[in-house]
Amino acid sequence: MLKISNLHARVEDKAILQGLNLEVKPGEVHAIMGPNGAGKSTLGYVLSGRDGYEVEQGDVNFNGKDLFEMEIEERASSGLFLAFQYPVEIPGVSNMEFMKESVNATREQRGEEALSATEFLKLAKEACKQVQLPLDFLKRGVNEGFSGGEKKRNEIMQMILLKPSLCILDESDSGLDVDALQVVANGVNSQRDPQRSFIIITHYQRLLDYIKPDFVHILANGKIVKSGDASLALQVEKEGYAFLGKEFEEVS
Ligand code: ADP
Ligand code: MG
Ligand code: MG
Repeated sequence: MLKISNLHARVEDKAILQGLNLEVKPGEVHAIMGPNGAGKSTLGYVLSGRDGYEVEQGDVNFNGKDLFEMEIEERASSGLFLAFQYPVEIPGVSNMEFMKESVNATREQRGEEALSATEFLKLAKEACKQVQLPLDFLKRGVNEGFSGGEKKRNEIMQMILLKPSLCILDESDSGLDVDALQVVANGVNSQRDPQRSFIIITHYQRLLDYIKPDFVHILANGKIVKSGDASLALQVEKEGYAFLGKEFEEVS
């Protein structure tokens, strides 16, 4: 599904990712934790192809293709979903219109017929209910005046509608209340599937109380310094990152 090998990336003059390796197979849920400034969000931005994030070395293979050879739109339509890719407000474009276009672009890529307005509306209403957003959110401008929690629910709604093969969620900076956290967790859990994988970037163990990861990785100073199962997250919660000890100091 996704194989990241020896990834080095910089922002402006600063080297941030410094030899990151990660492999995600179909159906797996990976959590990435790590201290502030470790490069977690940068990893997501690099994969999404955000401007200003420069790849210096390394490869990323996504479903058998070189990710960096793919246009941004192609990454999305080939099944890569980055929850933070669309946080911007797009006044004047309705949420529904925006999502219908994204969904139909994805379907076209897969060789499926485009959904009619009626068909899409039905699916969108169901997804809206699932994330507990009032239906008028479909008519509103994309993210226009949405609260943090509403943006989050909206992201999960996009995920449900787009049916991506790999979902990357960066939960680091969102002050989610427990309800919104549950929506994220339920959204992810409802979409778990042997053919779909998740990378969940999170500062806190809290979210992982609701989403049980198959693997937990610690990212520090631009690379994965430790990997384990869900118990690694519990250990981080209890002891912080100090337990990484010498190994951690070496990369600090
Ligand atoms: P994390 O998500 O793990 O907290 P980030 O990936 O956001 O870490 O940031 C990693 C490092 O890169 C930080 O030191 C941060 O200040 C720096 N950084 C991130 N984006 C930029 C940018 N656009 N310009 C300069 N430095 C940046
Ligand atoms: Mg941060
Ligand atoms: Mg971050």
